[in-house]
Formats: sequence, structure tokens, C-alpha cells
Amino acid sequence: MSEKFQVVVIGGGPGGYVCAIRLAQLGLKTACIESRGSLGGTCLNVGCIPSKNLLNLSENYHKAKNFSKLGIDIGDVKLNLEKMMNNKDKAVTLLTKGVEFLFKKNKVTYFKGTGSFKSINKISVLDRKKKEIIIETEKTVISTGSVPVSLPGIEFDEKIIVSSTGALMLQAVPKKMVVVGGGYIGLEMGSVWSRLGAEVHVVEFLENITPGMDKEISVEFMKILKKQGIHFHMQTKVEKIKKNANGASVLTIDKDGKKVNFDCDVVLISVGRKPNTNSLKIESIGVKLDEKKRIKTDKNFQTNISNVYAIGDVIEGPMLAHKAEDEGIAVAENIAGQSGHVNYDTIPGVVYTSPEVASIGKTEEQLKESNIKYKIGKFSFMANSRAKAIDEAEGFVKILADEVTDKVLGAHIIGSHAGELIAEIGIGMEFGASAEDIARTCHAHPTFSEAVKEAALSVDKRAIHS
Ligand SMILES: Cc1cc2nc3c(=O)[nH]c(=O)nc-3n(C[C@H](O)[C@H](O)[C@H](O)COP(=O)(O)OP(=O)(O)OC[C@H]3O[C@@H](n4cnc5c(N)ncnc54)[C@H](O)[C@@H]3O)c2cc1C
Repeated sequence: MSEKFQVVVIGGGPGGYVCAIRLAQLGLKTACIESRGSLGGTCLNVGCIPSKNLLNLSENYHKAKNFSKLGIDIGDVKLNLEKMMNNKDKAVTLLTKGVEFLFKKNKVTYFKGTGSFKSINKISVLDRKKKEIIIETEKTVISTGSVPVSLPGIEFDEKIIVSSTGALMLQAVPKKMVVVGGGYIGLEMGSVWSRLGAEVHVVEFLENITPGMDKEISVEFMKILKKQGIHFHMQTKVEKIKKNANGASVLTIDKDGKKVNFDCDVVLISVGRKPNTNSLKIESIGVKLDEKKRIKTDKNFQTNISNVYAIGDVIEGPMLAHKAEDEGIAVAENIAGQSGHVNYDTIPGVVYTSPEVASIGKTEEQLKESNIKYKIGKFSFMANSRAKAIDEAEGFVKILADEVTDKVLGAHIIGSHAGELIAEIGIGMEFGASAEDIARTCHAHPTFSEAVKEAALSVDKRAIHS
């Protein structure tokens, strides 16, 4: 007889594992199926965590190399890439094992294998040795995430032509690396390898990097990265990538039709990710996809098939771990009869370069497009005492508030700790804060967060330090 569950979650990434834990907390008999052999999904295994580990270590390496300028003489700084990669792998293992522990603690049953639909209530789990078991379920949550996409006709070999996954595992620092796509993943990985010594060239089809970001921030961001030595080739399209004895040759064409060839040892293609529904056999139960092959859901994350839900990267919305997690909690609460919901207007986005870039809510371009009248408050970290004291004064805070009500509509920060600073704006926005609410909140001195307060003051042209 097959084992029976109230809910089966397919996919153990941040969407799926958080959902499974919340379901179990709510008293539902829950199983989670994960095919990659470890929990945590893209995020913990080949995404957020290893990339942040390498960003941190490469930044430390870069800083250490420049310590002598600050009066700290530590002699010759040498890179041991193998050790650095081992450190990254250790962080990943610790965290993925941590999720396994949380499953045990919360009594979530964990199946290692590929989940697919036999019928609406019967799920097959096929393990790596091709052994199949069938489990029964009342409800199913699909959280199978996304996978990197390549350019037409170009396959990843994860050594010379790499996706983000390969870029996290290179065994030597490339002399020259071409990054195709100026989105956040390409810029983070480009920063890592540039700091470790590679000559990095970003080829981007559009006019600006990080499309969708507030334009003023994006322009400043590119300026800063250029100063750090990253080369940008904007409005340039990759026509062909050919492997050769030394690596690869990337043929590009710019907006004026000029062809430029880049010879390099590694090409990172980071042009986006696509929903991962391949192994689910959802067509057998009739689950509908949208035009971008994402699973179509309603506001309760229910697909067109009752009792089958979907969350995370596999559905519409920003492909971010915290968005997937929040959807995991919301769908679990809905399944348990509560009223889970996600506020898509306050999902922050962070790029973990140095300095960091963080955004929440509307950009100036979006407000213009929707004819919403707004005020802008801006404050430069050049005038922030903490930032100046520790020589991390690049960037600024920009707050957008409604012209009439003063309600905060969006905030965009480029600067040290931007990813942490954006959280206070998020809480403010959830509580319907005005710029004045933030401006009148006492912020500790000297902190980077004072720049947020000053930007809020600047919305009404009363910043003190600028
Ligand atoms: C290099 C990189 C850096 C990133 N950095 C950040 C960041 O800093 N912050 C951020 O918010 N986001 C970041 N992301 C994005 C983030 O990783 C994803 O948005 C997030 O992991 C999505 O979670 P998910 O649960 O929807 O899917 P996933 O994390 O993709 O998890 C889905 C899981 O389902 C499993 N699966 C698929 N099919 C089946 C099946 N049939 N049966 C069983 N299991 C299956 C997969 O093996 C996978 O483990 C990054 C991504 C990359 C690639």
C-alpha cells in the first residue's frame, strides 16, 4: 500500500522547503520530494549562497591586496582558489544539511527522487537508481523552480561556455572572461572573477545594465563597476560563440553594425532563467502554462486543476528566493484554511556587488509611465559620516514619495549595506509610511542608515547634511 499524505510538495528549494515546513507546523501530514540529492534548491546549492560566499571571499582578497595602502602590511597576498572553493562548498553543505535537520524537526517526510504526476492524487517518486515508489496525496504544491537558459544553438559545457552554475565552480581564474548579459547574476559573477584577476567584458544587448532597475541607479552602478575595471559593451548582440583550442571566440555586433570578436578562456551566459516543469508530467493531468511556459495560477496559487498549486520561480513574478519563500508560506496557510497572501509591491531586489544595489517598490520610470505625481529625496553617502569614516562613500539613497500624500512609493539605494538598509523601507511601506515617518524616526549615529533618514528628509527639501 502506498503512503498517504495531506500535502506533497514537489521541489525542495526556498519555495518548496519553506512551504513544507509551514504546512507541517500547521498540522498537515506533509512530504517534500527533491531530485538533486540535497535540499535548498538553486538558492542554497548553485545560487544565492555559493555566489554570496564567493562575493565575500573575493572582496576580502581584493581588500587584503590593498591593505598596505591603509597602513596594514601583511606582505604578499596570494590566492588559493581550491581552498576558496572548498570554503564555499562547506557553506553550502552546512546550509543544505540544516534544511534536512529542519525537516526532521518539523516531521516533514523527505523523498530523494524525481516527482511526477501519475494522476491528480498519485505522485511517482523515481530515485537515482530508477527505483519507483508511488505516494498518495490530497493536495500538491509544485515548486520545481527554474534553470538557466542559453543562447539559441549554444550549449553549456560548464567549463568554457558556462551558466552561473559553472561560473561558481571554475578551477582556475580565467585570463579573460566574457559575460553575456548585464543582469544581476552576470554582474555578481563578473565581479567575483574580476576581483580574483580576470579581465571581464560584459556584453549587453540593451542600453542599460540591470533592466527594470531605476535608471539613475543603473547608470551610477555601471559607472562604479567600470571604475573597478569591468568593461562594458552595451547595445551589442552576441552573434556566435565558437570554442577553440584556447577557450572560445565570441562574435558580437553593435548597434551600428560593427562586428567585434572577443577571444577569451571562459564565456558566462547569463541571459535569464526559464521555469522548470520538464520532469513533472503535468500535461498528463492538464495543468495549464502561460505564454512564457510558467505554470498559471490564481491569487491563491491554485492552478487550473483543483488541489494542485504552484509557487516560486515556476510561476509568474520576480525569480527571487524570498519571493518563493513568501509564496510558500502563503500557499501553506491557504491550504490550511487561513488567508495567506504576498504583497508584490514590497518585494526587495538586491545585487550583492560592491557596493550593493537594492530596490523596492516603484522606479521613477514606472511612476512616470503611470502618471503618478511624485517627489524625490536623495542623499549621497559622500555626506554620511560613517561611510566617509570607513572610506565606503560611493553611491546614494533615493526615495520616491507621493506628491500629495507623501506616502513612500519606492526606494533605490546604491552603496555599502544597501541590501540591509532597504529592509527599513520595506517595513515602512508595509505600514503605509510617509517619507516624513521615516525622516522623524531616530536613526543611530554614525550609521549608513542615517543616509536613509536624510533622503527621507530631502523629500521635503530639509536634509541637514547636504
Ligand atoms: C547564481 C544565482 C544567484 C542567485 N542569487 C540570488 C540572491 O542573491 N537572492 C535571491 O533572492 N535569489 C537569488 N537567486 C535566485 C534564487 O536562487 C531563486 O529565485 C530561488 O532559488 C527560487 O526558488 P524555488 O524554490 O522557486 O526554486 P529552486 O530553488 O530552483 O528549487 C526548485 C527545486 O526543485 C527541484 N526539482 C525540479 N523538478 C523536480 C521534480 N520533478 N522532482 C523533484 N524535485 C524537482 C530542483 O532540483 C530544485 O532543487 C540566484 C540564482 C542564481 C542562479
